[in-house]
Amino acid sequence: MSPAHPTSYWQDLDKAHHLHPFTDFQQYRKTGGRIFNKAEHIYIYDTDGNEILDGMSGLWCCNLGYSQPEITNAISEQLQQLPFYNNFFNCSNQPAVELANALVDVTPKQFNQVFFTNSGSEANDTNIKLVHRYYDLIGKPEKKLFISRNNAYHGSTVAAGSLGGMSGMHKQYTGLNYVHHIQQPHWFAEGAGQDKESFGLQAARELERKIDELGEENVAAFIAEPVQGAGGVIVPPASYWPEIQRICRERDILLISDEVICGFGRTGNWFGCETFGFEPDLMTFAKAVTNGFQPLGGVMVGNKVADVLTAGGGEFAHGLTYSGHPAACAAGIATLKVLRDNQIIETAAQDVMPYFQAQLQTLVDHPIVGEVRGQGMFAALELVKDKSSHERLAPDSAGAIHCRDKAIQNGLMVRAVGDAIVTAPPIICNRRDVDTLIDRLSRALDTTAAHFN
Ligand code: PLP
Repeated sequence: MSPAHPTSYWQDLDKAHHLHPFTDFQQYRKTGGRIFNKAEHIYIYDTDGNEILDGMSGLWCCNLGYSQPEITNAISEQLQQLPFYNNFFNCSNQPAVELANALVDVTPKQFNQVFFTNSGSEANDTNIKLVHRYYDLIGKPEKKLFISRNNAYHGSTVAAGSLGGMSGMHKQYTGLNYVHHIQQPHWFAEGAGQDKESFGLQAARELERKIDELGEENVAAFIAEPVQGAGGVIVPPASYWPEIQRICRERDILLISDEVICGFGRTGNWFGCETFGFEPDLMTFAKAVTNGFQPLGGVMVGNKVADVLTAGGGEFAHGLTYSGHPAACAAGIATLKVLRDNQIIETAAQDVMPYFQAQLQTLVDHPIVGEVRGQGMFAALELVKDKSSHERLAPDSAGAIHCRDKAIQNGLMVRAVGDAIVTAPPIICNRRDVDTLIDRLSRALDTTAAHFN
């Protein structure tokens, strides 16, 4: 980018030709946006030179921050050695082979096979095809229905969007008719007045009720994130996951853990299913597998399904040109190496993650904070007008949007989700970085409280 151009030049060009994801095109035409052109460590820099602590790790993906020469060098070396070759038609490439093996090493013991995609959305589409094929091969072709949760986010392709339960998305297209949704385990929003653990059990038993309604013989799988990320860092009550696991086992339903956000350290273990103690049959990953430096996703396929698929015979009619792209896989190999060699997840889980959660909990005394919830290195703060009734601070998420904008002005990137402020900083932050984050966030909360009172 030429430094000679002022920010307004880039903003105007962007407004003129670039349609952004999850953006109101009409509004963007008027307001334009902030354009970033540099990142270092845990900081991002815009074209005006503002330094912003990235409290969202990019889009929940740069868990190791932005300065990782081992990863960037691995990508550039791979591009010089073998910039591309596909994995169709009995061919493979060395980085894809190596990354598949490395993933088997770091994932729970039931996983020995991986199917690569470019994104989390494509990985969830792949889940549907893998599961349908599995049931065809075991002679239960009528088991085709998927159950997911309201307010879940599993991606944006038509199939992954159907698995998701975001009402705004479902308004804009017709979802697949074989996906059904149940309640989310969101105690603050939906369980007020109820004991948290009883609410967790009740939310889990919605799955059992839905299976009965649809007929166990028709239901293929249940998909969920260990902690709903984009939905608002919804940490389920402790009672929730054991009950879900029991139901899936007893009712012969496959369990898919979408680890696109939770995977690779976010919850304090390598994978969210380990933090919550359940054993999925399939696992979706993307984002932090390459530290966000290359597009890569995939599905870890557990032995129960993989043994059938690999013994079944006949072609699995599915694939993406860039499944197992060498440069993306090189980034994945290097990312896993950095995580393992430096014990980054284990160290963060002992030190910075508990510190981060404890410091955030101090904000629960703030007059407009109704709940602080979190796990590992992500959290949400619900903004309220009234702490006991949970009355929201302002209609149409205006409170959270105001607070987010103030935080960005204070040099902290966070996200507004409904009435909550969400943060998920890189897991390589140290305690001082956390102090900076908390200081910038509490100033944004003060300004927001003053604005709405
Ligand atoms: N699943 C979850 C849980 C996600 O959070 C996301 C993206 O945020 C996806 C799937 C989709 O991933 P992608 O944007 O790479 O398609």
